[in-house]
Amino acid sequence: MSEKVFTNKIINQLLEKYKTIWSLGHALALADWDLNTYMPEDGVIARGEMFAKISTLEQKLFLDKDFVKLIKLAENEKNLNDYEKGVLRVLKRSLKRYEKLPPDFLEEFSKVTSESQMVWARAKKSDDFSIFAPYLDKIVDLTLRQSEYIGYKKHPYDALLDDYEENLLVSDLDKYFDSVRDFLIDLLSYINKSSNFLSVHPLEKGEYNIDKMKKLNLDILSFFNSDPKKLRLDVSSHPFSQYLGRSDARITTRYSKNNFQQSLSCTIHEFGHALYNLQCDPSLDYTPIDQGSSLVVHESLSRFWENIIGKSESFTKNFHSNIISLSSEMRKYSTKDIYRYFNLVKPSLIRVEADEITYHFHIMIRYEIEKDLLEGKIKTKELPEVWNAKYKKYLGVTPKKASEGILQDIHWSMGCIGYFPTYSMGSSLSAMWKFYLEKDLGNIDELIKKDDGVQKIQNWLKNKIHKYGTTYTFKELVKKSTGEGFTTKYFKDYLTDKYKKIY
Ligand code: MG
Repeated sequence: MSEKVFTNKIINQLLEKYKTIWSLGHALALADWDLNTYMPEDGVIARGEMFAKISTLEQKLFLDKDFVKLIKLAENEKNLNDYEKGVLRVLKRSLKRYEKLPPDFLEEFSKVTSESQMVWARAKKSDDFSIFAPYLDKIVDLTLRQSEYIGYKKHPYDALLDDYEENLLVSDLDKYFDSVRDFLIDLLSYINKSSNFLSVHPLEKGEYNIDKMKKLNLDILSFFNSDPKKLRLDVSSHPFSQYLGRSDARITTRYSKNNFQQSLSCTIHEFGHALYNLQCDPSLDYTPIDQGSSLVVHESLSRFWENIIGKSESFTKNFHSNIISLSSEMRKYSTKDIYRYFNLVKPSLIRVEADEITYHFHIMIRYEIEKDLLEGKIKTKELPEVWNAKYKKYLGVTPKKASEGILQDIHWSMGCIGYFPTYSMGSSLSAMWKFYLEKDLGNIDELIKKDDGVQKIQNWLKNKIHKYGTTYTFKELVKKSTGEGFTTKYFKDYLTDKYKKIY
């Protein structure tokens, strides 16, 4: 990439004005990181007030007539390069949203969802879906209104999906889930019948030293060449990654004395998100395309690190001595034992703890429910029953309480309907990256054994994906980087190859 990628005069004027909007976004992101890490609990009221006001200010700046005029002028410009086209595409997308959603609607949405999140937490704590149900009703109503304001061709869900993944349609997702559903059912049934199948692994019952887990997480980050001057690791109940500019990434993990695997996985997953932003091209700084915004691409990268790197044999071998020091009981476990533990497949109730195969059933269930809710085929009060029936059908398990069933995820209370499918597609896409990376650099397991292996993997990701930020849409980027369109073929090959060896 050349030093100066933006040469068009109007685009440069837009970018100059955009820097104020970028700064507001930066302030909101920092406040959000603080809210989820160190803010004292009662700070939430003032923080909510501030979020609402700053978001309104952001909308005002977007709708400022000089800014809109520049966007319209830029639309008539000929010969924009890819980066300039990317800037214009992203700005037009935000503008469309701000123009179509009335400010009083946005305020209502913000109010209802802040309240719902608190109600959801209370309902989850007391295992009582009926407390949350009326709020979910309101959220479904609001999201239906949102899709009417935004507009759609076929399905109201289309307008919501687009919010998380540009141009993603119900028809794409139906096709996607149809292409993986039977494959995953068959593979799970094969594993269930294998003599290596374990419904409970002895390591799930152990107790592990949290201080040593913390040290191990830092050792892993250092193995990944992570620079503490650019990335920090903190703790939160729901692990996340927050972007604060190309040289400031914040990630979190969590610790439970009975599950060291989860803590490591969360750290590695969030690192994968952070690396995307850290490796964006510097010439995109402070622009609307200076970070990855496709949720499918983002999740493909976090899942790539979490599963394909973090659960590989070489990675496990590399950290074997650290892992067996986590408890005195662990000395007897070989690299192979731990590798198998990391890749244990079994039907379970909690999405975030699910393995690479059953994970997708958790997503399919949510997708089917969201679609039916929006079509009015099911009512919110029927949800616990619908939920349980689907868990029985896909996974053969039934939650005993709402907190391990319908109330487990925070997303709906945040007003996020249409978000879950990107998790599944992202995981699929990670296997496409694996295939093409190995085509260029050779086997990943072999690469990790070499001193410069991780660096080579990171450079490949940087040049094929990271450096572009949001210059391209998900579909364009996949095509550009791999030469073919998004396909589930590599995902199926990867899972078959890996799990038929283990089971
Ligand atoms: Mg993620």
